[in-house]
Amino acid sequence: MLKVVKFGGSSLAEASRYENVKNIVLADDSRRAVVVSAPGKRNSADNKITDLLYLCHAHVQYGVDYRNILDLIKSRYEEIADGLNANFDAEAEFAAIEEKLVNGADKEFLVSRGEYLSARIMAAHLGFDFVDSYGHVFFNYDKSINREKTYAAFKEAFEKSSGKIVVPGFYGTMPDGSLALMSRGGSDITGSLLAAALNADKYENWTDVPGILMADPALVENPYPIPNISYDELRELTYMGAKVLHEASVSPVRDAGIPVVIKDTGNPEAPGTLIAEKFEESESDRDKFYITGIAGRKGFSVVDVHYEDLAHNLEVLRQALKILENHNLVIDQLSTGVDGFNFLVPTDSVKSHIYAIIAEFEEKFGKGCITVTDNIALVACVSRLMACRPGISGSLFSALGKNDISIRTISQGASELNIIIGVSNDDYKKAVQVLYDRFTKRG
Ligand code: ASP
Repeated sequence: MLKVVKFGGSSLAEASRYENVKNIVLADDSRRAVVVSAPGKRNSADNKITDLLYLCHAHVQYGVDYRNILDLIKSRYEEIADGLNANFDAEAEFAAIEEKLVNGADKEFLVSRGEYLSARIMAAHLGFDFVDSYGHVFFNYDKSINREKTYAAFKEAFEKSSGKIVVPGFYGTMPDGSLALMSRGGSDITGSLLAAALNADKYENWTDVPGILMADPALVENPYPIPNISYDELRELTYMGAKVLHEASVSPVRDAGIPVVIKDTGNPEAPGTLIAEKFEESESDRDKFYITGIAGRKGFSVVDVHYEDLAHNLEVLRQALKILENHNLVIDQLSTGVDGFNFLVPTDSVKSHIYAIIAEFEEKFGKGCITVTDNIALVACVSRLMACRPGISGSLFSALGKNDISIRTISQGASELNIIIGVSNDDYKKAVQVLYDRFTKRG
């Protein structure tokens, strides 16, 4: 049994949290490949090391004295290493970084040191081997991952190691040999790649929440963690704004058939959230909660286009979509009717194009054909258990109706993985709360 375990920055913000991570790793013999982020915030007023490193580089770039900020970063690592009594020479590490910096090291290199040093300390503290991401994670020129090369390199490094390794997340190697960063939160991707490379039995992603929550805790008080979620459901929730794993971290483990568990470093015994392709579900499981999660976003616009007898003139739809494509719009919902169609777009993305779009539509389909309604929020209720189960949309609509929330748009595909409703931005918070209560308390 082999588990790849990844720890996020909030689980590594100070020495006591490294100690906690050590206890978690050593509590299970199968946790033999560890990926770490850079230290995060110790409290809400604190700064993430990665952000400080970006700031430090901006100082270097604009010729402002960077030493104070580099010293601040160094002191965070010294504090961690001292607190752990770890075999880590901060003086030497930072002297080497500074030397590279004055010799023109780029932003990617400097920022990657956050994860690099974190992994060095963790490897020393655990007594595991350090395996660098540089030289083991490989990008293509378009920054996509060269999986074949990455998997081969990780596999070989693991086989040559003591069988227990620590790897820094978030960066890798470009085809020209330079070091490059992933996008923010990228250590999740490193963990997923390592799990796929080593054909792990599980990828544990450790964070500071009890799992993926059924709703945004900023909107709902103490939402339940989701026990099981399918990859398809996760994609829907993530797309609608739920912040969980880095989006690009899903496909390596999903393709390799490796389940992912989101675990809480503050409560290691709690089951967390299991993400897998599908689950064996009994009728009684189905009766527990029939909604997996609720997510949403504010700030959409609905564009209504009137065209008589559209149903028999599909050419019009093709032309309209061409206009939208030319403006590079992302369309979130599209529905057609006898005499027209409407689509939903993020207001921000359409703002600077809207007058041009109106003009182009009017020219093609007639004056006054288009109406735009702003301030729409989307709320998605996602569940794999909804399919062919009567009554769910009924109770959703009646709960909103009873609470005086008017539904502006409705969408549900035949796969019945989610029901997405549009409400006014002002009703967004209340709509999420009402639906959460309805589906968890059966109120
Ligand atoms: N430290 C990086 C960030 O703050 C990467 C990560 O934590 O995954 O985005």
